[in-house]
Amino acid sequence: MTRALNFSAGPATLPEPVLRRAAAEMLDWNGSGMSVMEMSHRGKEFIAIHAQAEADLRELLTIPANYKVLFLQGGGLGQNACVPMNLLRGHAGADFINTGEWMKKTIKEAKNYCKVNVAATAEAGGFTSVPKFDSWKLDPNAAYVHICLNETIGGVEYHWTPDTGAVPLVADMSSNILSRPIDVSRYGLIYAGAQKNIGPSGLTIVIVREDLIGQAIPHTPSVFDYKQQADNDSMYNTPPTYAIYIAGLVFKHIKALGGLKAMEEHNRIKAAVLYDYLDATSFYSNPVAREDRSLMNVPFKLRDESLDEAFLKGAQGRGMVQLKGHRSVGGMRASIYNAMSVEGVQALVAYMKEFEASHG
Ligand code: PMP
Repeated sequence: MTRALNFSAGPATLPEPVLRRAAAEMLDWNGSGMSVMEMSHRGKEFIAIHAQAEADLRELLTIPANYKVLFLQGGGLGQNACVPMNLLRGHAGADFINTGEWMKKTIKEAKNYCKVNVAATAEAGGFTSVPKFDSWKLDPNAAYVHICLNETIGGVEYHWTPDTGAVPLVADMSSNILSRPIDVSRYGLIYAGAQKNIGPSGLTIVIVREDLIGQAIPHTPSVFDYKQQADNDSMYNTPPTYAIYIAGLVFKHIKALGGLKAMEEHNRIKAAVLYDYLDATSFYSNPVAREDRSLMNVPFKLRDESLDEAFLKGAQGRGMVQLKGHRSVGGMRASIYNAMSVEGVQALVAYMKEFEASHG
């Protein structure tokens, strides 16, 4: 068996030891005689799996006791509706920082629920940076300020935490959660689809300060009402049980590697290998402002885009897959999440150099 070097933006590569363990436990989890997929979510086996996954996530992110951890469904985009439904709390509107494709979707969805104030936008620069905080026109009466901590398509990441004072900060961390330590207490709510650094798609994690919930707007679907889910340990309805189990294995794996500080070190090394090369060549380029470059998603273009297809074909021949950029921006994108190895990124750069030498 040969595993591909998978640079997909998500669903994405997962740690091989996690996949091996899941394979070994597929038919019989822990002597239960059942696959985790076959278990009742209300049985003692799955309740133990769920509780352990939550405990390990709390430990990894040092989540304060006054935050609820919810294991939901509906993906990152589902949260674009759930957040206003749950967090408006009588306010007329909320603030949004437009950093690219994912925030554009967030803004569009929020317009169904409230007054949208785009407090800052990086559109003029082609979404290649995070707007400087002193340019943000925040509304002191906003229900919350919504940001995307890592724009997966544009490869733009916040390397700082905005101070929004008394107004809760909401962050879409779908593509950089668990890639480095963050201070959860600086946020009112964090959400992430699981399919990058956490596990399979189908699981959406919400971490929310408990004083912010319990005031959902009328007609909020019960399964998307944070308070109802919190009061039922995320089991108001059947949770995505198998995805939670895999996420739990990933959390244990990250803990064994040294937690989020170790992840950050590993991710900084990988990103430097790629960005250092991109900065040293004119054959490829990355448009993002240096201080806002993503550690997880590295978009790049070939100087001559007529070579794109040959580049991708050569990569495929070397077992490197999913390097094609998002259809909205073209070019290439290497997603280098936690589970991508330093050697994997080195192999990519070696191939890029080789391609440059033969086509430059
Ligand atoms: N936000 C970000 C930052 C993402 O990268 C993605 C998916 N790539 C989404 C939201 C949408 O997530 P989903 O497909 O799980 O709804």
